[in-house]
Amino acid sequence: MLLEELRQQVYRANMALPANNLVTWTSGNVSGRDQETGLVVIKPSGVLFDQLTPENMVVVDLDGNVVEGTLGASTDTASHVYVYKHRLDVNGITHTHSNYATAFAAVGKSIPVCLTAIADEFGAAVPCGDYIRIGGEAIGAEILRCIGTSPAILMKQHGVFTIGATVQKALKAAVMVEDVARTVWLAMQIGTVQELPAEEIAANFERYQTRYGTSQASLAK
Ligand SMILES: [Zn+2]
Repeated sequence: MLLEELRQQVYRANMALPANNLVTWTSGNVSGRDQETGLVVIKPSGVLFDQLTPENMVVVDLDGNVVEGTLGASTDTASHVYVYKHRLDVNGITHTHSNYATAFAAVGKSIPVCLTAIADEFGAAVPCGDYIRIGGEAIGAEILRCIGTSPAILMKQHGVFTIGATVQKALKAAVMVEDVARTVWLAMQIGTVQELPAEEIAANFERYQTRYGTSQASLAK
């Protein structure tokens, strides 16, 4: 069987979606790209999460053709492979309809940088792309047109897509975007949210991306 390690990674990341309350029923999906072969492992279409296994993940090429798998690939496969084709730094993609982030998408609003956590993780507002019909690669094109340096984007009247250098990083962005969307929504019930000044956004992003979680030993280098 092809790409056993990546199958495990993509399977575990898919299972993390319901574990983090980011999806319901069969919605949502995660994929990962193998840099050596260029092949992509993605969730099968329309399968309940508790029926997923590493073995029933589907392997596709960058044109979306199934290379290995008995089930159909996710309905969002064309968008995923479009992003992989055009962003060589991206090796993991997630898609969810997580409630709070998708509420922003429903009204076509980006998530403003009104918290240090948003500056840390995204370095900018989480943008909202235009409404695009599901199924083709047009969603992938809209992701790349609008995402900028953020690892997450909302697609108007649809949901959330996240990208990362690894499957794990894309998954983290999916968890974090829902967490901050929830907090911003709560804040909006009690007052007006205010964007952080540009220099604070830049300073928080730089600190978090370069120093957070690094050991004292690596700082001393
Ligand atoms: Zn969707």
